[in-house]
Order: sequence, then C-alpha cells, then structure tokens
Amino acid sequence: MFTTLNEKFEKIVSSLKGKAIISENDLDVTLREIRIALLEADVALNVVKSFIENIKLNILGKEVLKSIHPDQMIIKLVQDELVKVLGSNNEPIKFSNTGLTKILFCGLQGSGKTTTVAKLANYIKKNSKKKILLVSADIYRPAAQDQLKILSNQIDVNFLDNQNANSIKELILNALKNAAKQLYDILMIDTAGRQVIDDNMMNELRLISKLLEPQETILVADSLTGQDAANIAKKFHEAISITSTILTRIDGDGRGGAALSIKSITGAPIKFIGTGEKIDQLESFHPERIANRILGMGDIVSLVEKASENINKADMENLANKISKGNFDLEDFSKQLKQMNKMGGVTGIMSMLPGISKAQKLMANNNISDDLVKRQIAIISSMTK
Ligand code: GDP
Repeated sequence: MFTTLNEKFEKIVSSLKGKAIISENDLDVTLREIRIALLEADVALNVVKSFIENIKLNILGKEVLKSIHPDQMIIKLVQDELVKVLGSNNEPIKFSNTGLTKILFCGLQGSGKTTTVAKLANYIKKNSKKKILLVSADIYRPAAQDQLKILSNQIDVNFLDNQNANSIKELILNALKNAAKQLYDILMIDTAGRQVIDDNMMNELRLISKLLEPQETILVADSLTGQDAANIAKKFHEAISITSTILTRIDGDGRGGAALSIKSITGAPIKFIGTGEKIDQLESFHPERIANRILGMGDIVSLVEKASENINKADMENLANKISKGNFDLEDFSKQLKQMNKMGGVTGIMSMLPGISKAQKLMANNNISDDLVKRQIAIISSMTK
C-alpha cells in the first residue's frame, strides 16, 4: 500500500528540498503534482480539493514563500495536512466504564470482517485481562458461524453457538443475556456481510444496532477498493452511525485512496489496519506514521515496536557474541532470516525505512524479495546438520 503515492511524494519533496526561493509558479506546479498524485491514488475528489485548498491557504496565510526555509515549511505543511486527513491521532477502542462493552462489526461480504473480529479479540486479549465473548449474527450461512468458531478456538476466546436461533432478534437478545450472566467484559458481534443496496439487510443491521446499543460500531473496509470503500462507509454510517473503521489488506498493492478518504467522508477514525491474513497481523493506526511513510520519511517508531515485539534480546546478544567471535553459521543465518520474516519480511521492513523507494525498486529488479528469503530458509533446512 502507498508505494506509488510514496514514490510520487518523494519526487515532489525532493524537487523542493534545498530551494532557497520558491516562486508562486513553483508552488502552483507542486500543488498540481500533489493533486495528480492524490487523484491517481484514488482519493475522493472532494478530499483532494480541500487538501490542496488547505495547504494553499496555509502557505499564503503564513507567508511561507518569503520565509528562510520555504522548502521545509511547505513539506511540513503537506505532512500536517496528510496527518489531518488520515485522522490526526491514534484513537483507541472505546470501552464501557461499567459493565459490558458491546462491539458491533459490519461491512461488505469478503471485506475481511470475520477475520478482523478474531484479530481484534486476540489483540485485546493480549493487551488486557478482559473476558471476551464472540458471536456470529449470520443466521443465513452456517459456514460463517463455523468460521468464527474455528478462529475463536485458535485464539482461545469463547464463542457462543447460535446455530438454532430462529430470528436475529432472538440471537442478539440471547447473546446479551449470556454475556451478562457469565460476566463477560466484551461482547463482539460479527454480522452477515451485506450489500449496501440491499434494504432488507441494512434494516436488519439497524435492528441489531438498536437491540445491542453498542459502544463501538466498527466498519471493516477493504482498502483495495479505493475511494469506493469510503462511499460504502458513508452508506453504513448513514444507516447505523459507525464509530470507527478498520481497514484490511493494507499489505496489498492498493493505491491508498480508501485510507486517505474514509475519515473525511465518515468522520469516524480509522483505529486499526489489517496487514496480512494471519491473526496477529493487525496494527493500531497512527496517522502521523503513515503520513511519514507516504512522504518517504519512513516509520522508524513502528519498526522499533515490531522489533521489540518479535526479537528476543538474549538471543540477539548471543548472536552478536557469535558474530564477534567469527562463529556465525548457516543455522544462525537461517534464524536471522526467520526473524526478519516475523517482522514483515524484507519488503515490510524496507517500507518503514526512510527514503527507500529507489532501493526497493533496485531490489525488485535484482529479484531480491520475500520469496528469495523463503527459498534460502528452505535450502538451509534441507541440509544435513
Ligand atoms: P468476510 O466475508 O468479510 O467475513 O471476510 P473474511 O474474514 O472471511 O476474509 C476474507 C479473506 O480475506 C480471507 O481469506 C482472509 O484471510 C483475508 N483477509 C482478511 N484480512 C486481511 C488482511 O488484512 N490482509 C490480507 N492479505 N488478507 C486478509
């Protein structure tokens, strides 16, 4: 995600860097390039318009062009505007101060909803002692219930079987009754994926929301669908007032339009992003870090966080010792490669380093990729000791 946008913004930023004087003409060219980059990234037109207008107002209002370092000031204003469009701050999930917190999930079929329910339950479980109950309100597809059940087993979180419910109302009331009786802290309800044009399904969602009175109504949106994701979000918002968004498939090669449009269009913040198919591939969303990534300034904070989550300090010290004594062997090398995969692979790590897009291209041209790393690990593990 964001690779093309990042390449374009890096080019725009480097054309400004070091310029002592920026004429109004330079500014016009820069803003035009930013507008084109955003439109090509499939950002919604009205978001692009206000983005450019705000930067222009700020530049002219603050007399940036006559300042000592106009280049740096403009880059800073672009960065600030990107952060603003992405949502300003990282916002946590809202929990009820007393009693049960109810979290309702909605989204189109195939957006990654059920996986995301399990991912978020796993994330909350890892970071708190809260007791969580998962419920699938998809009474149409037993397979959807089974999917959530399997995932809940995988993450060791309780799942309430509702296969025999006769109606959605009965199912929701039953879930609430069970959660209260067994003193759960959080009740998470997955709903059937629906098309926004399907009135019956949208009415059912309204009914669920009314019965549940959730603290959080989370829309799960596929970031690969570009600004369409933002338009879909708007429809869901009009029906049941979503309070947050989780964007899935940020690991894909979408252009970033959804991420940059969704907050402005719905007003609801993006709280998490899905970065892969695995249960632990969910990250809290930090607008500033993403803005820095887009501008080619890297995301060192996230990289360090990933490293501290995945790297065992004692192992690393051991390895450093081995290297300094010249004892580094193929097994150590293989361990290092596996470690790198846990942190998102070569491409994942590279995407967080500053000014790296050119190097990424060179690597791709030389066939250096995550597949190459996997092959190396396979070669080493097929050798005899
Ligand atoms: P639902 O129909 O909306 O409930 O979607 P599912 O949860 O069944 O997900 C559909 C597919 O998307 C599954 O194969 C998931 O593994 C995959 N998926 C979900 N989230 C992500 C993500 O963040 N990245 C990637 N690459 N795949 C995802």
